[in-house]
Amino acid sequence: MISDEQCNRLVIAALAARDCSYAPYSSYRVGSAVLMEDGTIVTGCNVENASYGATICAERVALTRAVAEGKRNFVAIAVATTDGGSPCGICRQVMVELGPGMDVLISDSTGTFRRTSVAALLPDSFDGSGLKKPDFSESRASLKVRL
Ligand SMILES: [Zn+2]
Repeated sequence: MISDEQCNRLVIAALAARDCSYAPYSSYRVGSAVLMEDGTIVTGCNVENASYGATICAERVALTRAVAEGKRNFVAIAVATTDGGSPCGICRQVMVELGPGMDVLISDSTGTFRRTSVAALLPDSFDGSGLKKPDFSESRASLKVRL
């Protein structure tokens, strides 16, 4: 469980990330920030698209950005919206995949937040424990041949 000071830092980072939101269609600006085990914070904002379906939420931007930076040890995530809106189902599923033990802070635009958890947001969740892991060793070998 993260400290009150860490909570405040994470919510402030999510609020700042919200300023970068690209939301020309809904005008629903969202910022997110993830806290890593090493204390670093990675942020994201929602990025909408005219096709709507290509829109990506702030939470998934922050989480995937962290993964792309080689960070995997998620401790907490904050999301900041105008009205303290809760993460959508797709984002909850991604949280289960990448940081099932994360604290989740849900803030409105004034920085007033509530604290919950991934497990509380998506109980009885689906994860990859029952899935067969793909074997990429053969495709990697053929890739080396081509190179
Ligand atoms: Zn979402």
